[in-house]
Amino acid sequence: MKRQALLYEGKAKKVYETDQTDLVWITYKDEATAFNGEKYAQLQGKGELTNQLSSFFFHHLAEHGIPNHWVEMLSPTEQLVRRVTIIPLEVVVRNRVAGSLARRLGISEGTELPHPVVEFYYKSDELGDPLLTEDHIAVMSLATPQQVVEMREMALEVNRALRRLFQANQLQLVDMKLEFGVKEGRLLLADEISPDTCRLWDMNTGKKLDKDRFRQDLGDVLEAYREVFKRVGGES
Ligand code: UDP
Repeated sequence: MKRQALLYEGKAKKVYETDQTDLVWITYKDEATAFNGEKYAQLQGKGELTNQLSSFFFHHLAEHGIPNHWVEMLSPTEQLVRRVTIIPLEVVVRNRVAGSLARRLGISEGTELPHPVVEFYYKSDELGDPLLTEDHIAVMSLATPQQVVEMREMALEVNRALRRLFQANQLQLVDMKLEFGVKEGRLLLADEISPDTCRLWDMNTGKKLDKDRFRQDLGDVLEAYREVFKRVGGES
């Protein structure tokens, strides 16, 4: 497998072509960003942790029957994934109130929701990722109504599988952001799953073990990511 031309560079990753047209090579960067790129830091070793954590979760989800893009890890900071056309939506699943939901509804952070809530946001830095209704998605042709139904079902399945994994390791999955891609007409879970894209709290102490440590200047960001990796049964 050979790494070829750079296809895309995002805030946290670089995506390269390979000598196989249906596979792309991802390198995870050490950059941490938040608030639409306004807050920025270089955290040495972050790329290694997020690559390994994301690989671990995608592997776990594949074993639980959830189709996704992940193929294999190539090095501590690199992974091979199936090439998909990303649907420009961020699919958020919430089990407890936090972040933008706490602000929007005026409900205090940590309040348990009676059932998981699924939300769709438009992936647009220019617009600040606005919340969308299903009608907005349809009139903007961002996804078909069938894809919306399927993404919602898959997102809830991912939530069930990861909640079980985290609960067994004394971690609470507060919320998470998922992205989906299409390959030959089929929906695949894609992008990244890590403490950069989830909120995870220690079940006993409530300690935040996710990107909020960076957003809120709580310190020990990578120590927290390492703790998550250790608890779910990875190494580090
Ligand atoms: N999230 C993400 N990328 C984004 C926005 C949100 O990974 O661009 C994640 C975030 O880490 C949290 C969940 O999605 O786990 C819900 O985020 P929220 O809507 O509360 O927004 P925030 O307050 O984090 O901006």
